[in-house]
Amino acid sequence: MAISRFAGVCALLGMVLPAPASAISLQFDYSLDSSDFFTAPRRAVLEAAGSYFSTLVTDTLSAITSDGVNQFTGRIVDPGTLAEISLPGLSVPADTLIVYAGANAALGSTLGFGGFGGFQVSGTQAFLDNARSRGETGPTSGGLATEFAPWGGMLVFNSSLNWYADPDVSTSDAFSGHDLYSVALHELGHVLGLGVAASWFRLVSGGVFTGSAAMAAHGGAVPLTAAGDHWAEGISSGGQEAAMDPTLLVGSRKTFTALDVAALDDIGWDVQPPLTPVTAPVQVPLPPPAIALLAAFLAVAGARRAAALRPARS
Ligand SMILES: [Zn+2]
Repeated sequence: MAISRFAGVCALLGMVLPAPASAISLQFDYSLDSSDFFTAPRRAVLEAAGSYFSTLVTDTLSAITSDGVNQFTGRIVDPGTLAEISLPGLSVPADTLIVYAGANAALGSTLGFGGFGGFQVSGTQAFLDNARSRGETGPTSGGLATEFAPWGGMLVFNSSLNWYADPDVSTSDAFSGHDLYSVALHELGHVLGLGVAASWFRLVSGGVFTGSAAMAAHGGAVPLTAAGDHWAEGISSGGQEAAMDPTLLVGSRKTFTALDVAALDDIGWDVQPPLTPVTAPVQVPLPPPAIALLAAFLAVAGARRAAALRPARS
């Protein structure tokens, strides 16, 4: 029997602390970065964004090991071609998500997009079950999923834009361009299921998000974009525009706010207490984002929802 699923998305920040022993690890794979977008400084920024989530998310995920009759095939969008591709014979270490990172020059004004990977799997029932749940309790796909345990996913950045990549993400110097760190955090939020997982959409009703932790952080149900895949434009938490709203201003940085972290909790991740944002960026009103690009590729992939992060201006 085979199972397939796919969901994608799109893009924003935090502090880096030593990872506890039980934390998840985001393992970045640059083999599909055909345009060599990820130079050493940009890789360091992406790794820093991954480290943020390693400090935050403490779930334990079982390994997925393709071997013999048990075969796991990942499905992602190739950053270089934007075509959906298969990754046969994929194996994923325990407590690890593999994230394919690359870039494309044909994203228009979209900063980037990202999402969790789909998969096809064949083998024993135990192997199939593990591919879905990675050892997490509760259903992880279909129906009223309350958990989310992807094998990984992908991030695609717009290589035609002017990016700011300071490997020391603890600093908040004034800068021009689009902040790679902010976009990496946002897109990794999508890889972790924010705005795209079944366990997100089970909590979406009437244009608002009703997860209990997010409602506590926001002081009520949280308004969403029309597609339901981001916080509504300009939603803030703790004095900062939330990371998972659809936009990022040029020359600004956004970290994960208490609201963003609470949503991770709501969709099934075990998170540590929310961390204090590193910076207090200045924000100005933005036009509503467009999501045409991602909608297109998600239709191909059969994904449920997606969105693309847009800059304030390019
Ligand atoms: Zn997004």
